[in-house]
Formats: sequence, C-alpha cells, structure tokens
Amino acid sequence: MESSNPATGESLERYDEHTEAEVNEALDAAAEAFPAWAERPIQDRCRVLSRAAELLSERADEYGRLMTREMGKPVAAARAEAEKCAWVCDYYAERAPDHLSDEVIGTEPDARTLVSHEPLGPVLAVMPWNFPFWQAFRFIAPALAAGNVALLKHASNVPGCALAIEEVLRDAGVPEGAFRTLLIGSDRVDGLISDDRVRAVTITGSEGAGRAVGERAGGEVKPSVLELGGSDPFVVLDDAPVEATAGKAADARIKNNGQSCIAAKRFVVHTDVYDSFVDAFRRELEALTVGDPIDEDVDVGPQAREDLMEDLHDQVERSVEAGATLALGGEPLDREGPYYPPTLLTDVPTDAAAATEETFGPVAAVFEVDDGGEALALANDTDFGLGASVWTGDPERGERFAREFEAGCCFVNEPVKSDPRLPFGGVKNSGYGRELSRDGIREFVNRKTIWVQ
Ligand code: NAP
Repeated sequence: MESSNPATGESLERYDEHTEAEVNEALDAAAEAFPAWAERPIQDRCRVLSRAAELLSERADEYGRLMTREMGKPVAAARAEAEKCAWVCDYYAERAPDHLSDEVIGTEPDARTLVSHEPLGPVLAVMPWNFPFWQAFRFIAPALAAGNVALLKHASNVPGCALAIEEVLRDAGVPEGAFRTLLIGSDRVDGLISDDRVRAVTITGSEGAGRAVGERAGGEVKPSVLELGGSDPFVVLDDAPVEATAGKAADARIKNNGQSCIAAKRFVVHTDVYDSFVDAFRRELEALTVGDPIDEDVDVGPQAREDLMEDLHDQVERSVEAGATLALGGEPLDREGPYYPPTLLTDVPTDAAAATEETFGPVAAVFEVDDGGEALALANDTDFGLGASVWTGDPERGERFAREFEAGCCFVNEPVKSDPRLPFGGVKNSGYGRELSRDGIREFVNRKTIWVQ
C-alpha cells in the first residue's frame, strides 16, 4: 500500500499489506480480548475513551496535517475533524452508561421484565477516506463503550490515518487486541465477514461497496450498518433570504472539497428567487480559493485521487451533453494534481448525471421549480435518502418540509451535519442503521429481554 499527497503528487510512505497470518493473529487477538473488555465495568471503558479524547485534542494539529497530506482536505477542517473525534469520545464517555442502562418494562405485577444491552463481540468496520478520522471514531467510540472490540479496514489511500487511529487508542489504554487496524484491500473483506470470530460489520462508503458488504453480512446472518452515498437536496423557497442562503449553499457544497456524503448536491430553487439566488451562488463559488490544502487560506483543495476527479468530470460532461448549462468551472485546473474548480450547472435535466448520480466533488446542480409542491417532489426524486435541507423565512413551513423529505437527516435553515447527540443515517440507497447518539450505541448490542418470575 502506498500513500501519496494528492496536492503535490509526492509519494509519502509505503506499507506492507497485512498477510493472511497477520490478519488471523489479529482476529484471534480480538476474540481473546473481547470477554475481558466486555466484563470491565462500563465506567472503566469510558475512562479509556476520555483519555482518547484528551490525546486527540492534544494531537489535533499532527493528525490534521496527516489527514491533509493523505487525502487533501483543508488543514483547518482536518484539525477540526480531530477535535470532533475528541467530542464523540467524550460524548460516549459521559452518556454510554445511561444509553445502555437496563430498560425496566414491568409487564406483570408479579414479574420483573426488562431489556439489558450486551455487547456482540468483534465488529469489523470498513471505512472511507473522506473523513478519515471522524468516520472511524463515530463507530469506534460507541462500539468500545458498549464492550465490543473492533477491527478497522480503512480505505487504501489513508493507511497513515488508519495506523494513527490504532496508535491513539493504544496510547489511551485500549488493551492489545481490542482494537486493530488491518492494512488490506477490499477483496479481503468478504472473507472477514464470513469469519466466525467477526460478529457484525459496519461500512461507510459508496452504494456499490455497501451492497457487497450487506449481501455478505445477510448471507452470514450477521448484523450490519450501511452508511452509504447521498445526493442531498438543498431547497430554497420563495421566502428565503437569498444572499445569506447562497453563502450557506456554497459552504454546504464545497465542504471537504465537495467530497462529503451529506454535502448539498442538488439545489432546488423557487422560481421567484431563482435568478437572484443563482447570481449570488455563482459569486460565492467564484470567490473561493483553490490550492494546496496545507495553506491555511485555501478553501478548496484537490480531489483525493486522480480517478475520482476523472469520474466527476465525466459526470459534468455527460450532464452538459444532456442539456445542462455550464455556468461556472467545469474543467480540471491546469496544474499538477487532481484539482477541480467549484462548478455550477444550471437548467439541469432531471435525468442528467448531476441529477441522478452522487457527484462527489465541488459540482452544484441547480433546478428551477414553480412552487413548494414541485420542490418537494424533485427533492425526493432520487434513489438516495441521506440528508436534505430547506431554506425559508418561515420555520414552521420548513418543518413541514422536513417531515415530508424522504431522508434520514433533515434540516431547516441549517446545513446537514452530523452531531454526536443526534442519530445519523439514511434511507433508500443511502443505507440502513444509525450511528451516533443513543441509537448508534444500540446498533451493535444484544437487546436482551429478561423475564424474572
Ligand atoms: P468506497 O470506494 O466505497 O470505499 C469505502 C470503503 O469500502 C473502503 O475501505 C474500500 O476499500 C471498501 N470497499 C470498496 N469496495 C468494496 C467491496 N466491494 N467490498 C468491501 N469493501 C469495499 O467509498 P469511498 O470512495 O472511500 O468513499 C466515498 C463514498 O462514501 C461516497 O459514496 C460517500 O457518499 C460515502 N460516504 C457515506 C457516508 C455516510 O455516512 N453515509 C459518510 C462518508 C462517505 P478500498 O479503499 O481498499 O477500496
């Protein structure tokens, strides 16, 4: 495995993939570590998470720079990502005992009936490169707090991040075997899911990878959580404040160089504010600085890999061929590295690539609609269902939209985001299951019914 800096093309490090014997040893170690970890009082496990939070904060700059070097996100956002990982560790350190406390039901006057929450064992996590720390930690923190142990198969282009995650957990006091990073390719995931020592699997990634993992997990009768792609609508109603909303729209589209599952991708705009919104949106996108993400002033770095940028550009070209108007950007930048400029497509036909596929980069597709009903129908006209936002001067009207959106995370006058205190996940082809909050920690536990007569 080789990591390289997408901003410069510089080769960073070479790593040997783990051999079958090494993976086997890690699985044995996980199976062995599980009973002791699970039997520890939950407060002990939470103390380890608190320590992990401290270390993540202390090392936010080091880990932020590592993320930026390996996958190209702006360095300030990378540092903030390490801090957010500290937050999720602290959140579960504080809340896990309550989230997992017995639920006494009391069905009969003369019986004690309750639900307890028992860990399942070693859980395999297959993770993507786009938030290389956050995606992993939002699984790891609740999994370890609940008494599970974990094996991480990270994306092949962020091996340094994968090993740094192992390092910080080890330094925090996670016992040997209770957390391991496996440096392996995706062709070895099936075998792991089928292994008896692995009791459950979670994947964050593309729809195709999610289908493969979900199929294998189903065949093995093992629980799975699928956190997959999205094509989030950003609905601008006729009573939205146009200038302010356009600024939020640009942020929501280009965060993480446009490579976020919950980035706004389809902008559905009421005809009464369409022209003024498109104008303001274009100005916001034009004003962004594209460059080397290690530079603190840069807003948009390179795409994480050359092939990903080529796929994105192909989607833009196919959308223009289908009839979309290119209002801004639309050509790879003439410089070393996979740099793609903020790109604006208007008049996008509803069957064009930018309407039907996930665009994983700084490409915004704008659609004009005549009324709220049409806006809602178009927003929901997608195979994905991860996030959705609506922008309006009337929060009650916004909430009605939020209730009608076919998506897992619906926001009014706020960009879609993840927060440890709130459940996160999708419907339709965006996957199933939830991460974060009480829902997330209950995904990989046996909710055990106990009846004592
Ligand atoms: P990806 O290519 O699907 O890879 C994700 C992970 O799955 C990587 O570890 C990858 O390993 C592995 N993988 C790929 N194909 C597999 C297969 N057939 N069987 C088993 N494992 C497989 O996705 P990505 O490019 O890293 O990430 C971008 C995608 O993730 C986007 O679609 C984005 O929307 C989605 N995402 C979703 C969420 C969410 O919360 N819903 C959050 C972030 C990202 P290799 O690297 O070795 O190929």
